[in-house]
Parts: sequence; structure tokens; C-alpha cells
Amino acid sequence: MQSQTKSIRVFAPATVANLSCGFDVLGCCLDTVGDEMVISITSEPGVRITKIEGADLPLETRKNVAGVAVEALLEAYESEVGIEIEIYKNIKAGSGIGSSAASSAGAVWAVNHLLDNPFSPQKLVEFAMEGEKLASGNAHADNVAPALLGGFTLVRSYAPLDVIKLHTPEDLVMTVIHPQIEVKTSDARSVIKQKVTLQQAIHQWGNVGGLISGLFTENYDLIGRSLEDVIIEPMRSILIPEFKNVKKAAMDKGALGCGISGSGPSIFALSKGMETAKLVATAIREVYSKTGLDFDIHISKINSKGIKIIE
Ligand code: ADP
Repeated sequence: MQSQTKSIRVFAPATVANLSCGFDVLGCCLDTVGDEMVISITSEPGVRITKIEGADLPLETRKNVAGVAVEALLEAYESEVGIEIEIYKNIKAGSGIGSSAASSAGAVWAVNHLLDNPFSPQKLVEFAMEGEKLASGNAHADNVAPALLGGFTLVRSYAPLDVIKLHTPEDLVMTVIHPQIEVKTSDARSVIKQKVTLQQAIHQWGNVGGLISGLFTENYDLIGRSLEDVIIEPMRSILIPEFKNVKKAAMDKGALGCGISGSGPSIFALSKGMETAKLVATAIREVYSKTGLDFDIHISKINSKGIKIIE
């Protein structure tokens, strides 16, 4: 049995999944938006969520993604451990910037750290995916992988799981607008047709290859040309007010690309340099101000480290 009480506070970052062409496989990690969590090892075995601030989410272990993800980890860990979790939410649930992923990934990362890292990052992705399964009915890894590994990540394969960390060019900056309407991942998934044409597939895998090559060679023009989605965006963008106008405003200000963040309703624009990212933010704020909807805008460099301990 563990001795009472070892504890750490972590920053659990928001993430942008899909990145236009990479539905369910690509994602990247933000560094100015995220939750905080305090994770402790206690003497009483089992997983308990003792506090949640900033959001109305279930404290019940089996109903909270953090609880489910940690239970998956403890099942694979041979000895009995007690874990207590406090969650301080800044990322709104259903925002499309990985609210559920931040909790699942942050919790398993912190528990692994407290146990002296028995599990590899890839294994942690698997445990955190159990949380994603609870949130959306689908064990996707495109948010939890960048939260855990940092930077840009690719899920090359789901079975078996094969997650690859990509290169992060220094000058990339994200601008994200979160309209305060809730689009549940499960709803956003239900509007997607299950079949794609060969022509669409050719278009899309050309872009995935282009984007990955552009990241590794720091070719910003190629990154921009590759941020295109001919499959999901046409179907999902109808759920997001002013999507077309936001995209036009961002591209007019010089963004490399603009698309739906995860399952929406957040929209991301990727730019080269902070100056352009700020111009993009001003332009999209202007578009959204006319809607009467509440919204948040975040500007963030790419966080190449992922989850980290904070004092
Ligand atoms: P996002 O894309 O922002 O992660 P999702 O719709 O995928 O949003 O996940 C949010 C869902 O997960 C909500 O239904 C929420 O109640 C549920 N959930 C359970 N635990 C948590 C948690 N710790 N953090 C965020 N969402 C959680």
C-alpha cells in the first residue's frame, strides 16, 4: 500500500484535432489554453474525484472521463493504488478543443508520473482513449495523443495503436474561436456519411501527406496548401454559424489555413507568426460580433511538450 499523500498539479492542455485533412488521425497541442488538475496518491485503494471547479461535470468516477481513464490505467498496473483527482476546468465541455481529452490525458499522465512512469506515452494514449469513448462513444486518439505527446501527432493506425509525434515548426500560431453553442461530438459524428468516393480519398490523402511533409520541412506554403478538407468540412460546417465568413476573414488576413477544430463548434486558423494570428483574431471577432452569440477567442503557439507539472 502507498503512503499518504503524494500529489502533483498539472496543466492539461487544449488540443485541435483533425487539422482539416486528418479526420481522427491528426491533432496538435495548444499552450495558452488548458485545465489544471491536482492528482494525489492516497492510502485508500480506488479512484475518487473529489473536486471539480469551472464546469458542471459528474464527480462519479465511472461518469467522468478522468475517472474512467485512470481506472483503465490501474487495471493494467499490477498493485492496488488509491487516486484522488481534482479538476479545475477552463476548457468548456463540447467546445471542440479537447475538453474531455484534457481531463483523460492529464489524469493518466499525472498518475503515471506519481507511479514513477511504468507506462509508455503510447500506453497512456490507450488509457486516455477509454475516457474519449465515454465522452463520445468512440475511442478516438486525435486529441489525447497531442495532449500526451505534445506538438503535432499522427495516429497512423488504431489497431494496433501506432501514434507518431511529428515536427513542430517554430513560427506556427493558432487562432481559435469558440462560439458558445454546444455541438456534442456524438451529434457532429451523426451528420457524417460513412462512405467516401475514391476521388475524395485521393484528394484527402494527398493533403495528409502534404501537411506532414510541410511540418517536417517547415514549408509554410505547403502546410497552407494542405490544410484542406473535402470530406468532413462540407458536412459539418453547416452546424457552425458563420463558418464560411470566418474562414474567408481568416484567409483574407493571411492565415495558412482555417477549418473546424475537432467536431466543432470551435474554428481554428493556423498562421505563420504571432502578428498574422492576431490580425486573424481581430477579423474573426468582427464577423462573430454581428451574430449576437457569445464567443471566446484564443491565440496560442503550439505546445511541443504537452502536459506539464505546475507549481
Ligand atoms: P470536447 O470535444 O470539447 O472534448 P466532447 O463532446 O468530446 O467535447 O466531450 C464532452 C463530454 O464529455 C460532455 O458530455 C461531458 O459531460 C463529458 N465529460 C465527462 N467528464 C468530463 C471531463 N472531466 N471533462 C470534460 N468533459 C467531460
